[in-house]
Amino acid sequence: MTTTAYIGLGSNLGDKAGYLNKALELLDVAPGVRVKKVASFYRTEPLGVTGQDWFLNTVAEIETDLSPEALLDLLLDVEAQLGRVRTERWGPRTLDLDLLLFGEEEIQSARLTVPHPRLAGRAFVLVPLAELAPDLVIPGHGPAAALARELAREQPVFFYCSPGK
Ligand code: ATP
Ligand code: MG
Ligand code: MG
Repeated sequence: MTTTAYIGLGSNLGDKAGYLNKALELLDVAPGVRVKKVASFYRTEPLGVTGQDWFLNTVAEIETDLSPEALLDLLLDVEAQLGRVRTERWGPRTLDLDLLLFGEEEIQSARLTVPHPRLAGRAFVLVPLAELAPDLVIPGHGPAAALARELAREQPVFFYCSPGK
């Protein structure tokens, strides 16, 4: 069975756009995954832990035959391949890949919560997501575009470049 899923990508160390582009390539060549659409790359301020470099964020729409758990394994593997080292929570990283939505599934397991629990409070996720799927309903919040507009008033995100550049 093929499912449409959305992946959030972020980087705030080194060649940020390079990491995002490389991650998209690795996802697209992975068995059972096809990258269908990629939003613009946005420059965003770090939330939570301050005093670190700004981020580049985007969102990809994929089609996948993988289970959510197998997809999470792939995301963690691509993070590791691109040099992610986990130190402090929400600290600087070459690459963060989060599973935002997996079809309409709701998942609560030790390793995985889907929809991503902090999705609806983050302009850096909602603005690129709404660029790809403005009418997509975020459970409990309505269409992505309206929520993105609301969040972007408090959390500015700036267009940086198109993907693949
Ligand atoms: P945040 O979740 O606030 O964006 P983060 O992305 O920095 O923080 P990570 O260190 O990347 O957090 O993730 C830690 C763990 O979160 C992962 O090993 C994974 O098991 C778990 N996790 C739970 N739900 C998800 C999800 N929807 N997508 C990605 N990881 C998830
Ligand atoms: Mg994250
Ligand atoms: Mg993560």
